[in-house]
Amino acid sequence: MATPSAEDIAIVLGLSTGESSFVNWKPGETVTRLKRYETFQDCLYYPPNREQLVVRSEFCAKYLPATVAHLLDELAKHIDSPNPISRMESDPFFDMVVIVHSNPVFIKYLNSRKEIAGPGKDLAEALALNVVVLGRKYDPILLVQQSEEDQVDQIPLYVALKALLVAICILSKHGRPIPPIAQKQLLPYMHRWGSQAHIEEIRDICLDISGALTDSWVFSEGTDIHDMRKILTGRKYCGFPECDSLSETLRTCKRCQTVSYCSVEHQRAHWTLDSKTLPAHKRVCFRTEF
Ligand SMILES: [Zn+2]
Ligand SMILES: [Zn+2]
Repeated sequence: MATPSAEDIAIVLGLSTGESSFVNWKPGETVTRLKRYETFQDCLYYPPNREQLVVRSEFCAKYLPATVAHLLDELAKHIDSPNPISRMESDPFFDMVVIVHSNPVFIKYLNSRKEIAGPGKDLAEALALNVVVLGRKYDPILLVQQSEEDQVDQIPLYVALKALLVAICILSKHGRPIPPIAQKQLLPYMHRWGSQAHIEEIRDICLDISGALTDSWVFSEGTDIHDMRKILTGRKYCGFPECDSLSETLRTCKRCQTVSYCSVEHQRAHWTLDSKTLPAHKRVCFRTEF
């Protein structure tokens, strides 16, 4: 099957109407939450290749505010029920947010002060509670020694933890730490996994999250520092893949505002340079409303 486009994903999620070859339900059929979730799962590819980075950027530029609004709606529906956590499962909007957590358009959204990005300021709380939901499932597995190491980036919990760390760090800079009630549910898991999870990357990221929550945060050695540092420090690095210039005065791409450059030469070169793993900038450069 072909790679799903941003529009395909939006149709599967119900954010857009239209025809998609990925949608196999009939016109007028009531689409259950589970059915939508399963169809959405069929649209995902691990690990993401260059083409999917293009799709994800386009999706974020057009549909991220709506995706976040749905995720928060779901949370609001259950938060007052007697056992809210047990009701929040299989949410494709949560999965989508987690998948795009390191996309520059997602980072732009979290940092945006525009009204359309306002709901995103509650995202860290939503992610934290969803990690608690995943935690119930993973807790027994994480603490058991396994003979074969999994590919850590394919463990949904690990990717969710990375997304949570990104959201906590960026939103707390904007004066939006996650509320104490969510912290209280999350922290026991972070402490336990930080010391006892058998996968090192999971231990590291849980320690980072506990640190970020208590304002005593330093990156642990194992965290994928290069990527995360660029995302989390908010410092400006030249976006040309072969250049690592760091400066406060880089020129930012006017159209998308998600990338900056040390020079006109690097901006021009990046515009058309398709590398093995990264798409040329012109393919991921989208205007956004946020
Ligand atoms: Zn440069
Ligand atoms: Zn751009």
